[in-house]
Amino acid sequence: MTSSHPKPVWAFRSSRVVTPQGVRPAAVLIRSGRILKLAEWSAIPPKAQLRDFGDLVLMPGLVDTHVHINDAGDSQPASQDQPASRSHWEGFATATRAAASGGVTTLVDMPLNCVPTTTSTHALEAKRAAASLHAAVDWMTWGGIVGNDSQVGNGNHGSNQAEIPNLIRAGVPGFKAFLIDSGIPDFAWTDRPQLERALDALNNSGLPLLVHAELAAPILAAAQSLAACDWRSHSTWLASRPDASEIDALEMLLALAPRFRVPIHIVHVSSARLLPILEQAREAGLSITAETCPHYLHFAAEEISDGATSFKCAPPIRAAANREALWRGLKDGTLDFVATDHSPCPPELKQFASGRFDLAWGGIASLGLALPILWTGLHSREGSLEQLVRWLATAPAKLAGLARQKGSLRPGADADLVVFDPDSEWTVAERDLHFRHKLSPYLGARLKGKVLETYLRGDCIYWARGLDPVFDSRPNGKELRR
Ligand SMILES: [Zn+2]
Repeated sequence: MTSSHPKPVWAFRSSRVVTPQGVRPAAVLIRSGRILKLAEWSAIPPKAQLRDFGDLVLMPGLVDTHVHINDAGDSQPASQDQPASRSHWEGFATATRAAASGGVTTLVDMPLNCVPTTTSTHALEAKRAAASLHAAVDWMTWGGIVGNDSQVGNGNHGSNQAEIPNLIRAGVPGFKAFLIDSGIPDFAWTDRPQLERALDALNNSGLPLLVHAELAAPILAAAQSLAACDWRSHSTWLASRPDASEIDALEMLLALAPRFRVPIHIVHVSSARLLPILEQAREAGLSITAETCPHYLHFAAEEISDGATSFKCAPPIRAAANREALWRGLKDGTLDFVATDHSPCPPELKQFASGRFDLAWGGIASLGLALPILWTGLHSREGSLEQLVRWLATAPAKLAGLARQKGSLRPGADADLVVFDPDSEWTVAERDLHFRHKLSPYLGARLKGKVLETYLRGDCIYWARGLDPVFDSRPNGKELRR
């Protein structure tokens, strides 16, 4: 006889569970924060505690691999070595709250626009300290690779080549680099030779290189004809970031890729003209993946009003026909998944008074909204819940090296679950935005589908069945390491 009590088993049951084998009636058995097994709907073990969700959809917690959380930030004022903190743009407390409200249980932070940028182990430690106090969902951070012109803080200037092996050892799941001005001086873009050195450092590490794939030359060429244009018009912004910039960047990467064993991931694909090139590259055997973002799938350039700088992002939102081609690319697997690129800023940086797209900060805030945005889009395009889960959970988990732990309802994985009502319709209002600045082009959007409950390792962290949603804002989010 043993005196220890067996751990309780929970059974989360629904007629619509999104399993790796499809949507079916099932019961997810959970013990100690992990999935024990997927049982038949009627096969609830006698001692299990049952939670029956009826016909509501039960799916795995979502994984968003492209989020700008902007913490750490020490609150020091700007100095010659280091710009002022940008943690007032966002932070772990608000970002993870927004994530929980949208069924996202894992965030992967981008190495900018935090101060210091995550380009050294010193910066990584600062981030870990900030997250340990405030993260309500699990998280990781990409390491950054910067070029020679970086004004990195901590006395480091220039390229962070020497830090790459240290960051790998410290447990980052991969790295991010820019091929064009990132918008902030402390994260310089890498030119081709710098990129080759970075690929060499990552060679055979198994870690992916994520790339902001735009090249400057087509943008500089376009600028010459735009000097006299109206910068309150989104069409001017669109013309200033031509498709060619994305195409040239992808072709440069594809020219380098065969020389290295490094998976390459293209972040935020905006131009559908990349799709046939991506397809060819895969046929040639290259290890390349790509994401697009909710805003490229939901909005169209033709519909953006003058001065509406909340829609500004780079690369830009393109025409309606391009949007439809991106949907096709997603459905046929040319695009692997969808990440938000949640890139918030304080309202004053959006330049609403002037409405000038050239002066406004580029970045769209949407953390917590991806699931209903995509479900709304799929409704008129004949999609399935399985696709939704693949694009928002399973495929991004794989990129971050988390396939066994996150992104699908399988035995051994964390019991991260979302209770989703696919039929409710609602209009996005400020009270639905849980990130720091209630500023988003989705305000006023009519969406289909609502997250009702979110579970992190078996614990309910978000519950929206009453008038006001209830959050568990204890910092129970863990850092996940590759
Ligand atoms: Zn981004």
